[in-house]
Amino acid sequence: MTSELDSSIASGPNLSVESLTTKNRKKTSPIVNFTRVREEHELEKDKNGRLLFYCSSCSYSSSVTTNIRAHLKSKHEIDVETRQNRTKHEAQNRLIEYWNQAMEDNEIDEI
Ligand SMILES: [Zn+2]
Repeated sequence: MTSELDSSIASGPNLSVESLTTKNRKKTSPIVNFTRVREEHELEKDKNGRLLFYCSSCSYSSSVTTNIRAHLKSKHEIDVETRQNRTKHEAQNRLIEYWNQAMEDNEIDEI
């Protein structure tokens, strides 16, 4: 019994670990793993000509990756890993700039 178990561990390669490593090596957006190719009756692009992503688990579609991420999280409890901290930061800085401008405008309005 025990010797049989030992030999199976020693011989066969760990397939699950291997497939995980290859997945991590991909540098494309992780969302790709949870989206699918559109079906024939489904639109390729939205009104603005932006390519639509389709949820692999249902018929949800969106051209905005942020929306897809939110959908996956809320509907399928999939937390897509994001490595876009830099872009997020830039967007935040921009927001702060807009806010500062808006505040300035407000002050001028009040005077
Ligand atoms: Zn879905």
